[in-house]
Amino acid sequence: MRILADRTNLIDSSGIRKVFALAASLKDPVNFSIGQPDFDVPEALKAEAIKAIKAGQNKYSQTAGDSLLKGEIAEHVKKEFGWLEPVVLVTSGVSGALLLAFMALINPGDEVIIPDPYFVIYKHLINMMGGKCVFVDSYPDFKLPVDKISRSITAKTKLIILNSPCNPTGVVYSEQQIKSLAKIAAEKDILVMTDEIYEKFCYDGKCPSIANYYRKSLLLRGFSKSYAMTGWRVAYAAVDESLSEVIEQMTKIQQYTFVCAPTPFQKAAIAALDYDVSDLVGAYRKKRDLIYEGLGDRFELVKPGGAFYAFVKVPGAAGATKFVEKAIAKNVLVIPGNVFSEKDTHFRISYATSDEKIRQGIEILRELA
Ligand code: PMP
Repeated sequence: MRILADRTNLIDSSGIRKVFALAASLKDPVNFSIGQPDFDVPEALKAEAIKAIKAGQNKYSQTAGDSLLKGEIAEHVKKEFGWLEPVVLVTSGVSGALLLAFMALINPGDEVIIPDPYFVIYKHLINMMGGKCVFVDSYPDFKLPVDKISRSITAKTKLIILNSPCNPTGVVYSEQQIKSLAKIAAEKDILVMTDEIYEKFCYDGKCPSIANYYRKSLLLRGFSKSYAMTGWRVAYAAVDESLSEVIEQMTKIQQYTFVCAPTPFQKAAIAALDYDVSDLVGAYRKKRDLIYEGLGDRFELVKPGGAFYAFVKVPGAAGATKFVEKAIAKNVLVIPGNVFSEKDTHFRISYATSDEKIRQGIEILRELA
């Protein structure tokens, strides 16, 4: 197709599309494929958005974000990480922040180290920038593979990406693993991007952040998952003052692309920062327990410590894609591992659905084990 740019060939969405094509014919399936909470935005936060719209706050905000929201985020970040003057950019989702960050950071040929399995957007955006993904295998326990990361660093390494709690594994990196990585990154003076979109969905104690141990961290957090506002498109990127140039360049690119995150939803996000979601998280902890107790004895499964995913090994020698076809034939929608990995040995369950559906899904998957 002569009308299309070559970069369109660098993106392949066939894996996910295949699942959704198979799913289209299903009636009332057990849908374990969706990457968003099954609850709705809390009423108090909806009221804030409606109030902002009615008050006429419907124009562009400043490029870097509503100043009140930015200030509140900076205060939160300061308190949590001890950064003196955090620099913040409000973005259109973490997806928006990822695009801006890669555009600001990646030259063609630059290497980006990514633990495998990984959130799928990283790979495709980095490829689109002409960067090179260096995947570091974290199977079978999905712990942060610090030594392997260390051995993968070259003169071309530009960035290391962490995502904890992790999509698709649900694994939370330990403080000790994160500290070891911080030490290695500091020795080689490498920027670490930490995607913490699932930070609130943390079930067994606190989820440690590298931002606590390493100043050269680009922190990405969002409102999509924590408050079920995936359609509102609000997130942020933050750095310590010493890295302010990164945010300045990302802001410049936002000015010519997204312009700003949606203004009324930025207003609602101010209230969200202080909104307590511990009850909702408690309900998700129970869902995690249901899944782990329901499948842990039949499948090889690392107990997820956060997010709302479980990454389950396919029994026997069949690839995940074959197994997923069988599951879909039984009305259970799951995603094959090769969408999130260079391997195809596992499948991802999103348990962000009702407890009843989770129980049904467990029963059917157990029959396939
Ligand atoms: N990072 C991770 C790890 C995710 O799972 C997602 C959403 N699936 C995002 C970023 C992007 O989320 P959003 O753009 O809604 O903030």
